Amino acid sequence: MRIARFTTDEDPRFGVIGEADGVPVVAAITGDPLYAGVQLTGEKLSLDDVRLLAPVLPRSKVIGIGRNYAAHAAELGNEVPSEPLVFLKPNTSVVGPGDPILYPGFTEDLQYEGELAVVIGRICKDVPVEDAAKVIHGYTVANDVTARDLQRTDGQWTRAKGSDGFCPIGPWIETDLDITDLRVTTTVGDRVVQDGSTDQMIFKVPELIAYVSSFMTLLPGDVILTGTPEGVGPMNPGDEVSVTVEGIGTLTNKVVSRD
Ligand code: MG
Repeated sequence: MRIARFTTDEDPRFGVIGEADGVPVVAAITGDPLYAGVQLTGEKLSLDDVRLLAPVLPRSKVIGIGRNYAAHAAELGNEVPSEPLVFLKPNTSVVGPGDPILYPGFTEDLQYEGELAVVIGRICKDVPVEDAAKVIHGYTVANDVTARDLQRTDGQWTRAKGSDGFCPIGPWIETDLDITDLRVTTTVGDRVVQDGSTDQMIFKVPELIAYVSSFMTLLPGDVILTGTPEGVGPMNPGDEVSVTVEGIGTLTNKVVSRD
């Protein structure tokens, strides 16, 4: 099932993506599916008539995983970590599909990182690897936007990874998916710049959930970004950047100058 969050210029609502008479639609549901389950209201709207929003607003945190693909670690001159490399992005960095990525004035090297994102479905702590699937609500697509120059010079990654607009997610959450070998691609304009597979992850999703939950309580709606394949590079104002994860969909955002 694909769950979207959308607006028709009124309060955001949730819905299930489907098809009616060959037209893509979103079937509205009564509340937030993380808390209220999925109960259809009966209203169906054409996908063309709604604006999709970030499919989840993390209430507490977005957790990033660094250097989780060996070829990506190598391209930036880094070793593969012996344990998952964890950082945080605040929920204020989250934007949705189609939202602009504003190019801040404090960086000269804004880069894309296409990633599979995991949405947590229930409060949990100390989750064993074998139980990780039980705490997953679903999966979406993310662009772990990074100011690469500041990542090198700031010491902490907070500004380089956590600034406003640095966490586009969407277009929706896919709740039923085998994520062991999914293609992850990123395009800038019509150039394919990343083309990897989730089977190249060093630490797999169940291991990441076990590791992160060993020191931090996970809440419903928390998001884990699982790392990016090789091929990271710059985005510039005017660029349209799309990240596609096989079986989920495509997240597209345009980079816009603040000026
Ligand atoms: Mg990343």
